[in-house]
Amino acid sequence: MEYTEVMIRYGELSTKGKNRRSFIDRLHGNVEKVLQPYPQVRIHPKRDRMHINLHGADAQGVMERLCVVFGIQNYSPSVQIEKDLGQIKQLALQMVQEQYQVGKTFKIATKRADHDFEYDTNQINLAVGDYVSEHIPEIQAEMRHPDIKIQIEIRMDGAYLSSHTYKGAGGLPVGTAGKAELMLSGGIDSPVAGYLAMKRGVEIEMVHFYSPPYTSEHALQKAKDLTVKLAKYVGHIQFIQVPFTEIQETIKQKVPEGYLMTIQRRFMLRLTDLIRQKRQGLAIFNGESVGQVASQTLESMAAINDVTTTPIVRPVATMDKTEIIKIAEEIDTFNLSIQPFEDCCTIFAPPRPKTKPNLKKARQYESLLDIDGLIERSLAGIEVTNITPFDNFLDQEDEEITSLL
Ligand code: ATP
Ligand code: MG
Repeated sequence: MEYTEVMIRYGELSTKGKNRRSFIDRLHGNVEKVLQPYPQVRIHPKRDRMHINLHGADAQGVMERLCVVFGIQNYSPSVQIEKDLGQIKQLALQMVQEQYQVGKTFKIATKRADHDFEYDTNQINLAVGDYVSEHIPEIQAEMRHPDIKIQIEIRMDGAYLSSHTYKGAGGLPVGTAGKAELMLSGGIDSPVAGYLAMKRGVEIEMVHFYSPPYTSEHALQKAKDLTVKLAKYVGHIQFIQVPFTEIQETIKQKVPEGYLMTIQRRFMLRLTDLIRQKRQGLAIFNGESVGQVASQTLESMAAINDVTTTPIVRPVATMDKTEIIKIAEEIDTFNLSIQPFEDCCTIFAPPRPKTKPNLKKARQYESLLDIDGLIERSLAGIEVTNITPFDNFLDQEDEEITSLL
């Protein structure tokens, strides 16, 4: 079928009252970004629907990009023809025939925006339904749960027919909930937390701590690759890499082993909060899950959280690891996350971190350090990269290996 348009139905958006306009505008912008590889398409955002005129672009390719855009409930590829009942009947029959197998039922469902059109919706349903039955005598009409549903829309500029509706990504358009920083490690949990944040409309920026030479170039690339995977939901994501070596070395020298992890995390959170402030983020997201490891007991969270009053959102806080892994597989980050590259936290992880750190002690040990100086020097070394879904951070070596295979 040569489709001329993809029609998008909005998700939760329709319940958002006065904010509707800004939701639609944001969704429009997000759709535009993911459709950049198709410059010929024209996007027409309307109050209830968004129409993507394909102008010859490949409908399948366009739909593959749309299926990850949050704020879309579902979408249908459709064909525009003249508002002529004869032509409508023929195309509807052709669409039914494409899907028909013995025993399948069908339904014609018409909507009419052009009230001057000479037939009303019932008349169109009947006329087209009869035409289909004449040509496929054994087919049964079924109003409630048809196997094949042909939707006809009579609009001002033509008749639009579609025979398939695909489920969209749901959620809210990214950006409608404001911006926040996501603490992204190379692990399984934080990319999932980022995905869930975006699904609720939050625009995220990645903050990643790395510790050369203890962590390799590979580990940094892995975090960037994970960002590439998440960028497909929005078009691009800012990746902020923060040098953490001096801080970790200093902590290792000066802080008792049981508190290494707590103090490191307090520094990470402080730095993330300063970056957030500078970049006008509203909150911090991370991938902590209650009780998963020593740093993620409630006591530990309290001792770390102590450095800021900024809202910290933990989308996977109450999920089991298996539930988190299921989402990681769905969003295709799992296989990357389990690649065995060293993380700055694991390298400096004490063998027996305190599972119930004492807040007073944490503050006291920390006060032995030149907190401001350490923070200032780390912030001075920050690098920001704009990452798109089309970036490729595979290093030369990997590429050579691939090409040899
Ligand atoms: P993940 O799978 O996300 O790495 P984890 O189970 O390994 O989580 P931790 O290593 O304790 O858990 O990290 C908890 C959270 O702290 C992470 O989800 C992430 O949000 C943040 N974090 C840890 N390491 C880093 C890092 N190097 N850079 C940025 N954030 C980090
Ligand atoms: Mg980790």
